[in-house]
Amino acid sequence: MTKVYLRKKIAPRIANGHSWIYGNEVERIDGEPVGGEIVEVFYGDGKRCGRGYINPKSQILVRLLTRKNEDIDDAFFHRRISEAWAYRQKLGYTENCRLVFGEADQLPALIIDKFNDYFVIQTLSLGMDCWKPAIVAALESLFHPRGIYERNDVPVRELEGLPQQKGFLTAPFDTQVPIVENGVKFIVDVENGQKTGYFLDQQDNRRAIRHIVKNAEVLGVFTYTGTFEIHAGYYGAKSVLGLDISASAVEHANRHAALNGLENICRFEALNAFDVLKQWAKEGKKYDVVMLDPPAFTKSRENIQKALTGYKEINLRGMQLIRNGGFLVSSSCTNLVSPDQFIQTIEQAAKDARKKIRQVTFQQQSADHPIIWGMENTNYLKFLIAEVSDR
Ligand code: SAH
Repeated sequence: MTKVYLRKKIAPRIANGHSWIYGNEVERIDGEPVGGEIVEVFYGDGKRCGRGYINPKSQILVRLLTRKNEDIDDAFFHRRISEAWAYRQKLGYTENCRLVFGEADQLPALIIDKFNDYFVIQTLSLGMDCWKPAIVAALESLFHPRGIYERNDVPVRELEGLPQQKGFLTAPFDTQVPIVENGVKFIVDVENGQKTGYFLDQQDNRRAIRHIVKNAEVLGVFTYTGTFEIHAGYYGAKSVLGLDISASAVEHANRHAALNGLENICRFEALNAFDVLKQWAKEGKKYDVVMLDPPAFTKSRENIQKALTGYKEINLRGMQLIRNGGFLVSSSCTNLVSPDQFIQTIEQAAKDARKKIRQVTFQQQSADHPIIWGMENTNYLKFLIAEVSDR
């Protein structure tokens, strides 16, 4: 096996459990590593560090799969996926969950979402992509799924020298997959939906709106297929309006309303949030609850300030649209924006809007997306419910 020796002075990150090793942290390599190959990693003092896969083409040279002296083979992937499922089951997940959340399940660059009896996978690095057959075999043997779909149509794969692709990994099946979440029915478009087709990371948070939406007039912005908004209808809202810039998302959301018999309560429109929030705030429109769940505003550190400005703008307008004593439900999935920065931004927006805030709850992503301390990218979702009153 090719041996990789780390520099003497490396970031404590690796010793503390982080699985990424950058090229500039490596002193020397014994052997001619082939992209995707499993390598043995040693600390500068010669002690064993662990095993992982290497990609000389990637900035992240090695991603560690284990710290133990264990073989990386088909059985290893079967074991890890089975452990990931046992963990989700302990937390109460049965039908739908993120079964594998990459680094947080010690399977770097692997995502597996479980939608009922169907699975969607993403292998986002060369090393993980090599094990796709083993991963599919493990899912087959553990779940006897009705179907497995690959959503590797993601740009990040190109940094690893991999093509973007999507398609069936089992016999073809109807890619409109029905699921039930918190008692509400949805259809997941695993072929053409965003990411893997559905945002499971908000599934616990969607339950959190249960009480505040009762008899309320609700506005949901960045609605996608209307999951929060349909929940609001299901939990007894008087009326719900959901907005998204994508016409196909809005069409899907309207289908969701009909599927749940809520077509008289929930309606959806294709509009640009930035234009509409500002205009409606000026016109003095009011709602009891405003929900905001925008896409990530930046993926690079240089643009954090821009992202914060975006969050401030939509939250300020959102608050202006809330009746005295109503509620703001505000999310951010930009992992480069910390929970503190997010709260500070909302605080600033409240000041500018002359509103007083009382925090009801501040949560993170659902528990099937575990957070590993010290691995920043596992801690990304911020979810706030706050009461908003006039000053
Ligand atoms: N709340 C959804 C996820 C929202 S994802 C859920 O829980 O499933 C973010 C959505 O914002 C995407 O559907 C995207 O189409 C939409 N979006 C992006 N820019 C927008 C804009 N300027 N105005 C309105 N919607 C926008």
